[in-house]
Amino acid sequence: MECSLLFKEIIDYLEKVRPPLLLESRLGFDNSSVYGGLDSFIEKNLLLLRERVCDREDCKVLDELKEAFNQYIYLHKRDRKTLVENTIEHLQKIEANLSLQVWNLSVSSLTGVGEKKCEQLKRLGVKSIGDLFSLLPRYYDDRRRAVTISAIIPDFERGLTIKGEIVNLSSFQSQKGFYILRATIDDGSGHIDAVWFNQPYLAQLLKKGLHVFLRGRLNQKAYEEKRRLELSSPLLEREGEEPLLTRRLVPIYSTTKGLSQKEIHKMIKRAREEFLPFIKDPLPPSLLKRLGLLRLREAIEKIHDPKEINDYERGRERLAFQELLLLQLLLFKRRIHRERRYGIRHSTRTTLIDQYISHLPFSLTRAQLKVWQEICKDMEGDRQMFRLLQGDVGSGKTVIAALSLLKAIQGDYQTALMAPTEILAEQHYLDLKKDFAPLGLEVGFLSGGTKREEVERVLDALHRGTLPFVIGTHSLFQEGVFFKNLGLVIIDEQHRFGVRQRGLLLEKGRSSDFLVMTATPIPRTLAMTLYGDLDLSIIDRLPPKRKPIRTRCFDEHSQEVKEILFHELKEGYQVYYVCPLIQENQKRALSSVVEKYQKIKEMYRPFSVSIIHGAMKREEKQAIMEDFQKGSIQILVATTVIEVGVHHSKATVMVIEDAHYFGLSQLHQLRGRVGRGERDSECLLLGRPVTETGEKRLEAMVQYRDGFRIAEEDLKIRGPGDFLGERQHGLPVLRVANLLTDTTLLHRARELAERLVTTGQLYHPSLLQLRTFLHQEEERPVD
Ligand code: ADP
Ligand code: MG
Repeated sequence: MECSLLFKEIIDYLEKVRPPLLLESRLGFDNSSVYGGLDSFIEKNLLLLRERVCDREDCKVLDELKEAFNQYIYLHKRDRKTLVENTIEHLQKIEANLSLQVWNLSVSSLTGVGEKKCEQLKRLGVKSIGDLFSLLPRYYDDRRRAVTISAIIPDFERGLTIKGEIVNLSSFQSQKGFYILRATIDDGSGHIDAVWFNQPYLAQLLKKGLHVFLRGRLNQKAYEEKRRLELSSPLLEREGEEPLLTRRLVPIYSTTKGLSQKEIHKMIKRAREEFLPFIKDPLPPSLLKRLGLLRLREAIEKIHDPKEINDYERGRERLAFQELLLLQLLLFKRRIHRERRYGIRHSTRTTLIDQYISHLPFSLTRAQLKVWQEICKDMEGDRQMFRLLQGDVGSGKTVIAALSLLKAIQGDYQTALMAPTEILAEQHYLDLKKDFAPLGLEVGFLSGGTKREEVERVLDALHRGTLPFVIGTHSLFQEGVFFKNLGLVIIDEQHRFGVRQRGLLLEKGRSSDFLVMTATPIPRTLAMTLYGDLDLSIIDRLPPKRKPIRTRCFDEHSQEVKEILFHELKEGYQVYYVCPLIQENQKRALSSVVEKYQKIKEMYRPFSVSIIHGAMKREEKQAIMEDFQKGSIQILVATTVIEVGVHHSKATVMVIEDAHYFGLSQLHQLRGRVGRGERDSECLLLGRPVTETGEKRLEAMVQYRDGFRIAEEDLKIRGPGDFLGERQHGLPVLRVANLLTDTTLLHRARELAERLVTTGQLYHPSLLQLRTFLHQEEERPVD
């Protein structure tokens, strides 16, 4: 059976049983609300519903209710009351579920949409009926009014809408074998020709005397050579046919190869007709009224079939608000859930910390101290800590991490530090091992490449609780890793990890505190949204005496680059030389980097050049990084494996080839690898950007140094959807809302969400549909 028919039946049955149930409660539950008894009436209809409902849970509930009504007459009044009320509630849930199912229904449920169309729609990000409803037009073309033919002023760029009668019709085969159809249209003031190529079926639809609407562009050649008004292959709609692409404000959607504007219009129209009636508004009328927002159905109509230009914004606003509200509800719920989780009260003793600080060659900056206080407060409190530490590259997050670790260790808890790449994990390991040695603390290391015996030794020590601190990659949180009493987990460069990994971690450390650190800062409002379930600390100042890194763009073969490098190398400093893997084929790409490496080796003779990339063995990488640290390698050619965290004060030049291929924050990260010592450092961006955005990125790099500023620019250049990209995993997709520009809506959604969650109003019966949508977001699998 066609989906929409089935839904219609379900709704009908639901509506049929509700009134008798309500009446039954008014009549005092004496089985009299229906002739022949409420019980048999309900039983019968529940069975019919049961046969139509698809959701397994719903079926189960219906079976149980049906069973219960079988016993209705034997029940005490009080139990009858409970049963009737339960039934009403469950039926409402079924209705809400149905609504959600319809929203999620695959576009393939539309007649005429097969596998191929589905694929094409998917390219537009449209998979479900709901996606289709949320597909925003790129713009609207006002085709409400036809022009008078005699008043046409030739303009070959813009489309014309014509209304008139076909007064002449001819078709012929061109010399090249095209089938050409020509129609002359008269609107009383003059006439115009319309010409179509190879569309023989059109001839079937048209005949003399027919009134039609046309939309198309004037053919420049015909006009200039023959002074003839002629439309090339215009859109055509006959009088009496429903207006789709003429005679209205026509939404123009993005299209993709194989999918025409007209097809999209038809699909949306069909979806609106067939499925929109089954979608219940998640926001009840009273709430909408207070918020001054449209009803969902109205909003969708206004977006896809606006009567006035303003309609669009009103409709969009409504859909955007709904998305933002769901997002905020999700975050507030997570947050509340978390705040209810009891955590460890970490020790307030500072012996280890004092000792560590006394060994530092610098004192903490004010920004660091502020953040450290925030962390201490969390750690000493009885709630679990969930804190995001943002700080620009080189702002000194590692010291904060070390302090936090020591605080946990002080109270005999175990700790873990997870880094996204082996190189970074390794580096943390070497650094912290050195820092913690004077304190008599052992540090363990675990990664994919760790030797078997060592893994076993570390695992055993973690399990027995004799190892206070372990550093590693995500292998830290695989199966088989048990901690005796894990008290703190730190994740470095959190943006590199998916939500799934974050989730795995959460499970390992039931009540442990969590600190996640990132050097890809994002503007505060955005952070509050994206990481709304985390508390936020920001190191907003770099340590003093940090030398700014001079950033310049060069041609790929610039002689000056060579001179700069030679100069630095002669002075005993070192260079990173980063090449992107830009070919689609990883193997080929790598070989091109290797080739590049050979060239650089030639070019910078006699300096020692080495290469490092992700496909190398761990020992190899480790050896190379060590040699670089020692200074026996002077130029390190690398892929982005060195992107995050790597710290070496003798490296003073960062060369980035084909820089425009990198994202802005990635460039900033890479640049942050230099400027870590006494000497002035440079970042040289090579290559010619081929796109405008590429150019803008490079300009931003030259102009800005502050990571937050860079992130904002990135956001502007890329747009938030793209910017969020991977980070957005685990959060609802925003199709309509724009986190950057919809700030007012975002704030309103946030306020409402907070109120609904904290007051418990979210559980009001009128918000059942909203909860159903929310539930889906909560259950959505990540990655
Ligand atoms: P990131 O925030 O990028 O992880 P790091 O923690 O690696 O930065 O710190 C970068 C460098 O700055 C390190 O060499 C570190 O020792 C140094 N550093 C950290 N805090 C201070 C400070 N308060 N004063 C001076 N140098 C500092
Ligand atoms: Mg770091």
